[in-house]
Amino acid sequence: MGIVHPADLEEPKSCVNMPGTKEIIEDRSSYRLIKPRDKCGVAGVYSRSEQDVSPYLFYSLLSLQHRGQESCGITTYDGSFHTEKGMGLVTEFFDLKTLESLKGYVGIGHVRYSTTGESRIENAQPFVVRHSMGTLAICHNGNIVNSMELRRKLEKAGQAFISTSDTEVIAHLIIREYVKSEDIVYSITEVMKKLVGSYSLVILTDDNLIAVRDPLGIRPLSLGKNDDLIMISSESVSFDVLGARILRDIKPGEIALIDGEEIKSIRAFKRSRKAYCMFEYVYFSRPDSILNGIPIYDVREKIGRILAEEDDIDADFVSPIPDSAIPFALGYSNASGIPYRESLIRNRYVGRTFILPHQQARELAVRLKLNPMASEIEGKNIIIFDDSIVRGTTSKRIISLLREAGAKEVHMRVGCPPIKSLCKLGIDMPTDRELIASGRDVEAIRKIIGADSLKYLSIEGLTEAIGLRENDLCMGCLTAKYPVEIQKFEQVLLPSFVDRELSNNNR
Ligand code: SF4
Repeated sequence: MGIVHPADLEEPKSCVNMPGTKEIIEDRSSYRLIKPRDKCGVAGVYSRSEQDVSPYLFYSLLSLQHRGQESCGITTYDGSFHTEKGMGLVTEFFDLKTLESLKGYVGIGHVRYSTTGESRIENAQPFVVRHSMGTLAICHNGNIVNSMELRRKLEKAGQAFISTSDTEVIAHLIIREYVKSEDIVYSITEVMKKLVGSYSLVILTDDNLIAVRDPLGIRPLSLGKNDDLIMISSESVSFDVLGARILRDIKPGEIALIDGEEIKSIRAFKRSRKAYCMFEYVYFSRPDSILNGIPIYDVREKIGRILAEEDDIDADFVSPIPDSAIPFALGYSNASGIPYRESLIRNRYVGRTFILPHQQARELAVRLKLNPMASEIEGKNIIIFDDSIVRGTTSKRIISLLREAGAKEVHMRVGCPPIKSLCKLGIDMPTDRELIASGRDVEAIRKIIGADSLKYLSIEGLTEAIGLRENDLCMGCLTAKYPVEIQKFEQVLLPSFVDRELSNNNR
């Protein structure tokens, strides 16, 4: 759930040939994006009994793997800082020997996709910067929309950069304040005044493990504990896997200092509104996570119920596009009384094997990933559920698979209102013009994807399912109204998005 599945990715136009084999290996960085993906997941662990925390960070990152699959890293502290980071999945990069080398009772970790900054090792996190008063290691989930402007100012002041990531900008800004004030909370507060965008940070200094969340709480960040560990994570599921429990969310605008004995909370900013990312509830976060006090699974089940209440269609059964749409379809089925059946079976082991070169082979690859069960489908009227439609490519492909398997009617229901605008706050999406709902109404989209009928969740339905006011959610990608001032920095933002688009077009 929430993981970027191979079926959500379109095969790259050029692939890498393994010398001496006929296989074409997967090049994850060259996929064209069909489903949005989160930029990153962050984690922090402090052991009060002074155990090495690297195994705990490893398992935390593993539970956050759906939030970033390009690179991963861990920094620990035992009087000295120890860092290991690299490209690939958590289980690909870390082995026992690497984890054993990461000594320390406190540490932070990161899994990453790139939205600002290219996908290369220099941009892998944690960023570790030595300075005149010690060392600062930092991990970031989010996107700083004025990072180019801040970076240019730092460069003018003589600051050198080793990466293209906005996280390095944050690190240097904090250090500059800290060497002047020698007060880490004051320094972070001063930097927060300058940052425009979304950020959930975990920071490790010689003295403290620190959690920071932007004043609107756009990206998630939670605090958990058990008898020994105090933990920070993008999602509460990390606490579950380690037998810890969620204490609470880091509040919007909060700086939390963890030194083992106590968690010191400073509310650096308190705004009249919040702007929690609605897409965390709909798609990104795992269904077994609790976000801002709200269980994700419950939201998704309720979305299905609301869609059923707004609907008037009859069908033989309701079916999800696995796995992410399962709770939506279950909710719809429970509310409507229309039976729930599985019609598409996902093969979870295909994604990391081969991308095949020709159209026929690509069709085979799609069927290997999502196989329609003709025995269930033939002659049936089906309501098929997806969590969201971004480019429409996956929906079109799946509807066509269902029809080929003999479906009489295919009605598509979507657990998220139409995505019409690019996310600029930490979620990697296709460009505006690639979004199928940009400039099209529902009927035009229905025709393109080939459904007999198409219905999206309404914005009112979404806020009802989450249980928050519209004003306490970010819905920028639905309404083009962003909770932070984006337009002012649009020109400065543009190059990184143009770079990405150019590289997509070149494939
Ligand atoms: S624009 Fe959309 S995906 Fe981006 S933070 Fe806002 S709600 Fe989330």
